[in-house]
Amino acid sequence: MKVTVLSGGVGGARFARGLVEAVPPGDVTVVGNVGDDLEVLGLAVSPDLDSILYTLAGLNDDERGWGRAGETWHALETVAKLGGESWFRLGDRDLGLHLVRTEALRVGEPLSAVTARLARALGVEATVLPASDDEQRTWLDTPAGSFPFQEWFVARGHRDEVDAVRFVGDARPAPGVLEALEDADAILIAPSNPYVSIWPILAVQGVREALERRRAPCVAVSPLVGGRAVKGPADRMLARMAGGTTPAHVASCYEGLIDALVVDESDPTNGLGVRPVVARTLMTDLDASRRLAGAVLEAAA
Ligand code: GDP
Ligand code: CA
Repeated sequence: MKVTVLSGGVGGARFARGLVEAVPPGDVTVVGNVGDDLEVLGLAVSPDLDSILYTLAGLNDDERGWGRAGETWHALETVAKLGGESWFRLGDRDLGLHLVRTEALRVGEPLSAVTARLARALGVEATVLPASDDEQRTWLDTPAGSFPFQEWFVARGHRDEVDAVRFVGDARPAPGVLEALEDADAILIAPSNPYVSIWPILAVQGVREALERRRAPCVAVSPLVGGRAVKGPADRMLARMAGGTTPAHVASCYEGLIDALVVDESDPTNGLGVRPVVARTLMTDLDASRRLAGAVLEAAA
């Protein structure tokens, strides 16, 4: 059973980690969001792809929720001391990956090729694809003005309410992305932030259309537990832009694109417009991720 999953960073990565336990990793393709990518200190950083790679490689810091376990921060401390840009947290171990990626991109290697090479080197057996090799940037329109994703999310601590999300750059799909959607036996949408993790993937040329004409079932997982995001601003964004924080509001973000929504047992299932599947969706550990993946695959069978 070939499975393709659309994923943001942490929520998506945790889900993907369970998925590769439920099906052979060689049958899993993870399409990762690149709308949060940024250049910082001259380095090309792809936060969501890195969360996916680190988590699938078992190198992620579970407690912090992002970056690598056993991380140290000496380089960033030096940067700060020297008056360099230090608002975006880059750990010493993490920096090594950014150095390799930045150099590869500089000499003309596409992001998808570098990502495949990094995955192989880290022992990741699943296919990890950036949604696009082109530059695509997420912008947020807020009452305080418009901001690029990381300025809003990290520098301003996502405190501004969001009125609209925009994707700048008419990005083409990376090689393999449309094929992975067309050839899949099941298409899954991870419990990621719909607006800033999944929508930017759907905005890549041809991706939304590939989902609209899908032959395989498409099942999304709600990022809500008890009407709240487990982490981050998804609930506030849903409240303001979709009008509420129930699974029905999540489903409205994916209208015409999904056949079922996996909903936490603490949330209501009415008004979804698609088939509800109730499961325990909180991924507290690998076992919980694995069980959720199993339930989602069953819903897609
Ligand atoms: P980011 O790019 O790192 O922000 O990661 P994602 O967009 O992939 O994930 C963020 C979303 O994941 C948030 O909206 C969380 O509510 C959701 N999330 C995180 N952990 C869990 C979990 O254990 N269960 C569910 N259902 N959602 C989760
Ligand atoms: Ca992200």
